[in-house]
Amino acid sequence: MSLLVTERLEVVNILRKSINTSYKGLRGWNVSKAICSMSRKQELIKNYEDAVKECKNNNVLLLAVSKLKPASDIKILYDHGVRHFGENYVQELIEKSQLLPRDIQWHFTGGLQTNKCKDLAKIPNIAMVETIDSVKKAKKLNEARRTYNADEPPIACNIQINASNEEQKSGLTDAEEIFALVEFFLKPDTKNIVLNGLMTIGSWDVSHSAGTENQDFTKLVEWKELLDEKYGLDLKLSMGMTADYKQAIKQGSSEVRLGTTIFGNRPSRADAFV
Ligand SMILES: *Cc1c(COP(=O)(O)O)cnc(C)c1O
Repeated sequence: MSLLVTERLEVVNILRKSINTSYKGLRGWNVSKAICSMSRKQELIKNYEDAVKECKNNNVLLLAVSKLKPASDIKILYDHGVRHFGENYVQELIEKSQLLPRDIQWHFTGGLQTNKCKDLAKIPNIAMVETIDSVKKAKKLNEARRTYNADEPPIACNIQINASNEEQKSGLTDAEEIFALVEFFLKPDTKNIVLNGLMTIGSWDVSHSAGTENQDFTKLVEWKELLDEKYGLDLKLSMGMTADYKQAIKQGSSEVRLGTTIFGNRPSRADAFV
């Protein structure tokens, strides 16, 4: 009997799970496999469709943040027509990109380290890096893309802004640094990456105080207006996650990044598997 890719991935996952949880024996194996994959499929598609309804009228891109979730989940949504997926860990992204179809548009949404820029640039179908926060990293990414994947499209990039000014959060706050980074993108020899927009992660407190305007999103919109005016751009805004995406859409988001809403709670990194 030949299995579809989704089914094969499902089998691998169930096997791994059964090893992890020392599941005893494989009695009823085919039945439980079929039931598992059917209900998971229905669940994922329903979650995705519910979220996409919130985005449709406003023309917002819904990024399915699949970090720490198995490739079989991604394949289910891929078969449903979804192409934009977000990942936070470079190694996990590399593995998934090798396992899954080539026309997926991967977004990197994790904290970016200079020494990982090369590995990201090597992934042919990486579409976007959302967390650029220094000229140094932008330079590295551009150079590596030129070296390893010059024939692939340039990588779209978002500049990460720390709108809430929280110390533990990455992203830029300083105007001069932000200007310098935008200007790097606009240089004629920056050809292998392109500036797409701005990204922020709303602070937990602000995102959980219902009913009011989200100050972090207001701040990001102000940055957009300032930079659009100064450089003649029309920057996109990547803002809004599970806790705050409806508010982000109200405030003009162009892309919301949804993990939990679509895939449910994430396992710990130690328990996750591709
Ligand atoms: C994990 C993550 C998300 C998705 O978070 P949820 O709250 O599960 O929707 C979005 N953006 C970034 C940068 C993330 O790290």
